[in-house]
Amino acid sequence: MTSERLPHTGARTGPDAATGTGSDAGTGAGAVGGAGAAAVARRRDLAVRAAVAGGLLEREPLVCLLDVDGIRASAAELTAAFAAALPPGTPVLHAFAVKAAPLVPVLRLLARAGLGCEAAGPGELALARAAGVAPERIVLDSPAKTAGELRAALDLGVAVNADSRQELARLDGLVAAAPTASPVGVRINPQTGAGAIAALSTATATSKFGIALRDPGAREWLVRAFLDRPWLTRLHVHSGSQGVPLPLMAQGVRELHALAEEVNAAAGRRQVDTLDIGGGLPVDFASDAAGPAYAAYAAALRGAVPALFDGSYGLVTEFGRSLLARHGLVLARVEYTKTTGGRPIAVTHAGVQVATRTVYAPAVWPVRVLPYDARGAPKTGEAVAQDVAGPACFAGDLLATARELPRLEPGDLIGVPDTGAYFFTAPYGYNSLPRPGVHGWATGPDGAVRFALARPAQDEASLVAEAGGAHRDALL
Ligand SMILES: *Cc1c(COP(=O)(O)O)cnc(C)c1O
Repeated sequence: MTSERLPHTGARTGPDAATGTGSDAGTGAGAVGGAGAAAVARRRDLAVRAAVAGGLLEREPLVCLLDVDGIRASAAELTAAFAAALPPGTPVLHAFAVKAAPLVPVLRLLARAGLGCEAAGPGELALARAAGVAPERIVLDSPAKTAGELRAALDLGVAVNADSRQELARLDGLVAAAPTASPVGVRINPQTGAGAIAALSTATATSKFGIALRDPGAREWLVRAFLDRPWLTRLHVHSGSQGVPLPLMAQGVRELHALAEEVNAAAGRRQVDTLDIGGGLPVDFASDAAGPAYAAYAAALRGAVPALFDGSYGLVTEFGRSLLARHGLVLARVEYTKTTGGRPIAVTHAGVQVATRTVYAPAVWPVRVLPYDARGAPKTGEAVAQDVAGPACFAGDLLATARELPRLEPGDLIGVPDTGAYFFTAPYGYNSLPRPGVHGWATGPDGAVRFALARPAQDEASLVAEAGGAHRDALL
C-alpha cells in the first residue's frame, strides 16, 4: 500500500474490531472472516468514515472500496479448510476465478496469499500474467478458445481444460505439433441439475458447458478419449454458483471422482492425477452474518466423496465470488431527492454501471443499501419507503425500490456492501458512465485506515479513446 496513505484520521478501530487486523501472523481468518455481524459492520463503518475524512468522495461522487485484510482472511480460510482435510503433501492449487474481480492488484494480493488464477480467456490470462502469477499456477477455462489461444496456452504451460469434443480434436493436432508442459483436462457437465438462478446454473441437462456425462454413450466416449490421449491427466467440473446448494455441488464432484476412477481403472494406471472441482460457493447478500464457510463445503465434499481427500488426486479449486464479494463496498453520493407519485426517490451515483445484474434482474440479485450521512456516519432516523436510483438515463436504473431507510437527503451517502465480485469489478459502459475508482483499504498497527488506489477512476480522455476517439473521421 503506497498511495493515498491517510494521515491519522481519528477514525480508529475499537478494541474488538482491531483484533487480528494489525499483523499477518497466523491466518487472521478468525479475526475477520469469522467475525460476527456487528464487527463486520463496525469495520465497514470505519472505512466509510475514513474515506470521507480522506476526501475520496470530494474528488468523485462514486468510489469502490476493497477490504484488503478481509480478502487475505478469506484466502487464508480457503487454504486452511482444504489443508486440514487433505493428507500433508497433497498438491493443491486454489485458482481464483479472475472474472469475479479482474483487477491486477487483487490478483497480486491473492498470489501473495498463495493462490493462483483461473482465466476464462486471453484477457484474463493477460491480467494474471501482469500480476506476476506463474504459468504453472494458472488454469485456462473457456468454452470458445481459438486455435491461437490454445497454442499460446500450451506454449506458456498453463493448465487447459477442454470444454468440448471439438476442442479436444483441435488439441490433438496442437499437442502432436509441439511438446507442452501444460496439464490438459476435460470439463464435464455432470447434469446434476439447476440451482435457484437459471443464468448461473452450469450443470443442467442442457447447459452449454463441458461434455455432458449422462447423454447416451457419453461416458464410454470419455473413457475412450482418455485412453487414446495419454497426455490427458485432469478432469474438471464447475457445477455450482450463486444459488446452487452445497449438496448439489458435492454431487457434481462425486460424479467427477467416479469418472476419474473409471478412467484410471481402464488405463491400468493413474492417468488422471488431478481433479479440478471448480468454484461456486454462494454468498449471503442479505446480511453480514455468514462468512464464506469453506470448511462447511469441505465437510460436505468429504461426506459425499470421502476418497477425494485420501491424497490420491491433486486438487484444483476455482473460487471467485466467495473470496471477494464480502470485501467490496460501493460508496456513492446522493445527488438529489424528489417525490414522484407519492414515492420518495433518492438519485445517487451508483446504478447500472456498477450493479448491472441487480438493475436488470432485481428479484434475483437484491443488494443491501446502507445509509450514511455526509460525514460518513451511519444515518439514523425513522424509516421511510423510498426508491434508490442510479444516474443512468433509463427508468429502470434502480438499486432498490420501496426500501425502508431513513429519509435520504442530498449530500448523504449510500453504501452497497458485498459488491467485491461481479459488481464494480465488472462495470458496464452504459451512458458512457466512467469506471469508478477502486481503493483498497486496511488498518495499520496504529488502528488507522489507509487507502491504496487499485484502479483509477476512468477519465474523460480514456472514455473518448474507448469510444473511437482516435478514429473520428473514419465514417465520413
Ligand atoms: C465463474 C467460474 C468460476 C467461479 O465461480 P464463483 O461462483 O465465482 O465461485 C469457477 N470456474 C469456472 C469455470 C467459472 O466459469
